[in-house]
Amino acid sequence: MTCDLWTSARDCVRAIEPYLPGKPIEELERELGIQNAIKLASNENPWGPSPRARSALAALDPASWSRYPDGSASALRQALADKLGVSPMAVTVGNGSNDLLELAARAFVGPGDRVVYAQHAFAVYAIVTQAAGGRHVEIPARRFGHDLPAMAQAAADARLVFVANPNNPTGTCEGAGALEAFLQQVPAHVPVVVDEAYREYVASGDYPDTVSWLARFPNLIITRTFSKIHGLAGLRVGYAISDPGVADLMNRLRQPFNVNLAAQVAACAALEDDAFVARCHKENLAGLAVLSEGLTRLGHAALPSAANFVTFEVPRAVRVYQALLREGVIVRPIANYGMPDYLRVTVGTPQENERFLAALARVTERSTASHASAAPR
Ligand SMILES: *Cc1c(COP(=O)(O)O)cnc(C)c1O
Repeated sequence: MTCDLWTSARDCVRAIEPYLPGKPIEELERELGIQNAIKLASNENPWGPSPRARSALAALDPASWSRYPDGSASALRQALADKLGVSPMAVTVGNGSNDLLELAARAFVGPGDRVVYAQHAFAVYAIVTQAAGGRHVEIPARRFGHDLPAMAQAAADARLVFVANPNNPTGTCEGAGALEAFLQQVPAHVPVVVDEAYREYVASGDYPDTVSWLARFPNLIITRTFSKIHGLAGLRVGYAISDPGVADLMNRLRQPFNVNLAAQVAACAALEDDAFVARCHKENLAGLAVLSEGLTRLGHAALPSAANFVTFEVPRAVRVYQALLREGVIVRPIANYGMPDYLRVTVGTPQENERFLAALARVTERSTASHASAAPR
């Protein structure tokens, strides 16, 4: 799509590859005239929002909607600070953690500056780099994860580094030793964003407690979100924990009211809901096992995942994706992540997981059958 002003736009903006979101349930149901479609495409929480967040929002007086929210999100930042054992000055809130990824890029990256991230990393890193006019330095993945030593080398002449831990869409996770060694190698003047959107799902005892490292690595920017395990993706709220000086920089750039009233209220309540988080963590581990075993049984190699999704290899992935849509099951093609032969499926409820596996079995059986009759092996 272009327009008369296409050539008037900044070059770096024209070169952005637009983000491809998961297909909304309503859209698929409208297109196919079906009901009961399920979406396992955006790593959302299949158990919905935390019950505490639900009641807090239900109790919110509509009369409050006419006032601007607290622009400094004091209550939420204080609650996060208390929970994390840091100063509220170290906490920056955002309209989703996506907002914070962008603020980091806008604070540190100018035209021509290098930004380092891994092959198969989250698509937003490329977008915010491109929007700032920065140069992409994409370091080839190592067994689908980060090649941290190579990234540390590339960081020497970079202005910003992104590490997703766990990574989306591959589900890989770096342990404390490797990540700490990496931070020791990155020059102190180069900011490193460690994106921990899926941290609450990680079961490994070796997962880094990055907040405890902030005093030693003031160039570390940790981003987290309420979109995933807290089940508040639709409200858009995330946060960064960093050196207060870095928070001050991002605070200058952010929109004055970047986190809306409902999001602030719900996030404060969700933060107290440890029982809900624990339950979702446990359910997710069970779901991961069901999906990985089911996929293996169907002959699809599944990447080991530390998060709430599984990425698996499947021949003719786009056709399988489309066939699954006709079964009312929405998953995520990840060709735009350089993985054209893979699909990513989010862990759902036990019923959703079974429905996905059954649909995949039907779909791939059919396509194998038609393939075999067209070209007998
Ligand atoms: C989902 C996700 C996020 C979270 O995005 P929000 O803007 O907080 O909803 C951040 N990073 C990665 C790698 C993700 O997959």
